[in-house]
Amino acid sequence: MMTGEQYKRSLDDGRETFFEGEQIVDLPGHPILGITVDSAAKGYDRFYDPAPNAIGAFMKVPGSATELREQVELHESVDLLTHVTYASIMTLLTAADRIEATLPENAARIREWVKEAQQRDVRITQCITDAKGDRSRRPGLQDDPDAYVRVVERKPDGIVIRGAKLHISAASMGHELMTIPTKSMKPDEGQYSVACMVPVNAPGVKIINTTYAPRHADVRDFPMSGRHHTPEGFVIFDDVFVPNERVFLGGDHPELAAVFAHSLGLWERLGGLSGMATQYDRLVGFAQLISEANGLEKVSHIKEKISEMMINASLIRASLEAALANCSITSDGAAFPNELYTNVGKYHGAANYSLMVRHLHDIAGGSILTAPGMADLDNDKTGHLVRKYMGTMQSVDGIYRTKLFHAIRDYTADALGGWYAVTNIQAGGGLYAQRIVSRLHYDLDRAKRSALEAARMSEYAAT
Ligand SMILES: Cc1cc2nc3c(=O)[nH]c(=O)nc-3n(C[C@H](O)[C@H](O)[C@H](O)COP(=O)(O)OP(=O)(O)OC[C@H]3O[C@@H](n4cnc5c(N)ncnc54)[C@H](O)[C@@H]3O)c2cc1C
Repeated sequence: MMTGEQYKRSLDDGRETFFEGEQIVDLPGHPILGITVDSAAKGYDRFYDPAPNAIGAFMKVPGSATELREQVELHESVDLLTHVTYASIMTLLTAADRIEATLPENAARIREWVKEAQQRDVRITQCITDAKGDRSRRPGLQDDPDAYVRVVERKPDGIVIRGAKLHISAASMGHELMTIPTKSMKPDEGQYSVACMVPVNAPGVKIINTTYAPRHADVRDFPMSGRHHTPEGFVIFDDVFVPNERVFLGGDHPELAAVFAHSLGLWERLGGLSGMATQYDRLVGFAQLISEANGLEKVSHIKEKISEMMINASLIRASLEAALANCSITSDGAAFPNELYTNVGKYHGAANYSLMVRHLHDIAGGSILTAPGMADLDNDKTGHLVRKYMGTMQSVDGIYRTKLFHAIRDYTADALGGWYAVTNIQAGGGLYAQRIVSRLHYDLDRAKRSALEAARMSEYAAT
């Protein structure tokens, strides 16, 4: 396994990665992107085991509801790069099982690649979302045929791919890009049915980074995003050669194109759901703390809003619990979270997130945006006055209340807050995708039978 330092050195591999118009030559030393590299390096140190053939504990495949819960709790405490590596491995193993019957050789290739990647202790990011061009048209009917990643050339020893994958979390900080189709393909769209592993430093790969990291000199005003952020990568495959041993779908078998994205969806949404359970509790916590600091915690309309927030937070946690407790165990002993409860919980959390934030903003007041900076508290001329007027009562000091406002702004009303507002809705395929999967797994026949029974019309129930 690699230590954090070895991980940092491994990034000096000729990768072409960009930020705000500049190519980055020293990723670990970069003042903004280096923060994410540091978090990932800490993840390496945390799981480092010098034993030969050791594999990080975060990679463990859960075999029961208890182990699945342990794994979810562990992943709540790791950096995003470590988490997406695990989700990618689980996706690949799930997909291997699902393509086994049609493509046993490719399934074996996936398992072989996974073993080797675990030995190399590399980090993997998930490249699914294509540029997509005109959303109303199929991949094969776009003006620009590269709107979806495709195979442009076949060689005896591999394939050449072209296209772009957008919004890829932590793409520049990992070693491998798990590149898979974003959706199902029609029989004549074989060239778009491409699933493969591409090293970040492969010739032709270019990654443009964006991030919500604050550009303010004093990060004390950004207690969350100032300490940690995860950039997204705009990943371009400019005619990239991929050798056969890294190709799992090579521009053929369009009927299997959706298998990989469907295999990923469950793990991604479980991660999203467990993250949201934490986030909802935090929003309740901030609402209660600021209402107490403002002296309003006993006022009825404030209590009602916080009660509604508590109910939503509990529902999200209940669906996470239900997804774990009702997991299914595959024939080879791996525990899978319940699809219905994972998807409905993720959907409910995403759909109601703006309501939670609205209540918090309503309760907290305008200082969310206008509280003076921490440096103004340090200033001899202003500090004592800021402290005096930001304080509300003897037991609520101005420094404490100012810090609370900075945390609320950072979490919900500034760059990180905007990132959460969009990400909660879009990540994991968007609300529409979660509705489709929820519908697929809901027991509609039971609901119809129950309605017919209530109407004393059971004889109409399909047998
Ligand atoms: C911060 C962040 C991190 C992300 N991380 C990753 C990542 O690591 N890897 C990854 O692969 N992706 C990632 N995503 C991408 C995410 O999965 C997509 O944003 C999401 O699937 C929506 O795709 P899109 O952005 O292209 O929007 P669009 O597809 O343009 O969707 C916009 C709206 O149009 C609707 N729509 C689109 N096409 C149609 C159609 N044909 N018919 C009807 N309605 C349609 C959608 O339902 C949606 O309501 C991330 C996104 C964000 C914001």
